[in-house]
Amino acid sequence: MNRDEIKRVVIIGAGQAGAETAQRLRQGGFSGEIVLIGEESAPPYQRPPLSKKYLSGDLSMERLLLRPASVYAEENVALLTGVRVVWIDRAGKRVRIEGGRELPYDALVLATGARPRKLSLSGADLAGVHLFRTAADVDAIRPSFAPGAKLVVVGAGYIGLEVAAVARQSGLDVCVVETAVRPLARVTSPEVAGFFLDEHTAQGVRFVLGGQPALIKGVDQVTGVRLADGTEIPADIVIAGIGVNPETTLAQHCNLPIGNGIVTDRQCRTADPAIFAIGDCASRPMTHYQDRPCRLESVHNAVEGGRIVAAAILGSAPYVEEAPWFWSDQYDLKLQIAGLFQDYDQIALRGAMSDRAFATFYYKAGRLIAVDAVNRPGEFLGAKMLIQSGRSIPPETIVDVSRPMKELVAAAT
Ligand code: NAP
Repeated sequence: MNRDEIKRVVIIGAGQAGAETAQRLRQGGFSGEIVLIGEESAPPYQRPPLSKKYLSGDLSMERLLLRPASVYAEENVALLTGVRVVWIDRAGKRVRIEGGRELPYDALVLATGARPRKLSLSGADLAGVHLFRTAADVDAIRPSFAPGAKLVVVGAGYIGLEVAAVARQSGLDVCVVETAVRPLARVTSPEVAGFFLDEHTAQGVRFVLGGQPALIKGVDQVTGVRLADGTEIPADIVIAGIGVNPETTLAQHCNLPIGNGIVTDRQCRTADPAIFAIGDCASRPMTHYQDRPCRLESVHNAVEGGRIVAAAILGSAPYVEEAPWFWSDQYDLKLQIAGLFQDYDQIALRGAMSDRAFATFYYKAGRLIAVDAVNRPGEFLGAKMLIQSGRSIPPETIVDVSRPMKELVAAAT
């Protein structure tokens, strides 16, 4: 399929990945029809502030939007919000939306994201028990998010800890229950997790690690959480941040291969050459990881997917992949992450955790693979550049804070 054959692009999912695809197609000169379909009622918006400034009330919905709502019409992108796609006809190259209307496509982009895991416990449907994925979820939480309210957060991942930080700053009483023995187990090392645990504890957050919620108590409204060992934690609000599952239902129904998400090639193309998949819902071989299929849940991955697909549809030069990066804001701490740390066999710490400004570098077989930088933007940027270009600084050198990061990066091999 070449560029001239593509007259109609349908994008399912109006999150960061879907919106980026539409924008990049237009910026790249695509003059055909673009339909961007979102299940939520709002125009495409940023998710990261949901667990930060949107929850605290410091950011309005208008400021949350990725682009002003009027842009879509101006760029001749048909934005359909509050609309669910229910079926894909691969042979006929059409999608059907709820209510029966069908839309033809030449290229289809699945940017369906992920669904938050629900607590499968008795009482999980009581008033006051919330998931945390959408602006509507946060809108439902905010009226009860008041000083003195008792909040139980289930899950100590990014959502759990970011919500806990905002809650403490807003004067709520906060307890975090996590099944693992440490917070942030999926996303960082025990050392960095320990630092964040200490910070939250100092701010007055209580933790139950290795805790297993067994029951949500209450009649109409939640009143507490009972753990498997019988402990009862009083609660006015319960927020579950227990991870997400890639949204692959439509892809599954039309028999596209699914692994850890919808399987694609490096150009984000699925087994069907007319269908692409990007963002949280998809996995693709990544250049920086020896073409190992990776499914990343991040803004960077969503944006990159949109750019890769737009380049593939436009027939322009392939987008050059960046090393993955992430961030998290908790209190006055900015955690910036580059690379994937999971395979590390050595850690080097630059700076002191007690200064609340340090960087943890992860190595495998003596080569730098990732960094967690806390309040150290220079170390984050330097390490990101190195990982991107496959260069490294020996661990015994990187810990020398008397040598500026810039100088170390310049001398890296
Ligand atoms: P997450 O990072 O997967 O963390 C969820 C945590 O909850 C895990 O430690 C998990 O442990 C634990 N857990 C699972 N089931 C549990 C249960 N029944 N009781 C207690 N703990 C349980 O996911 P998340 O924090 O919910 O975040 C969801 C998505 O939003 C992710 O894609 C995340 O990357 C994204 N997000 C990112 C940011 C950021 O980048 N700053 C901020 C907010 C959200 P197991 O792993 O052992 O199951």
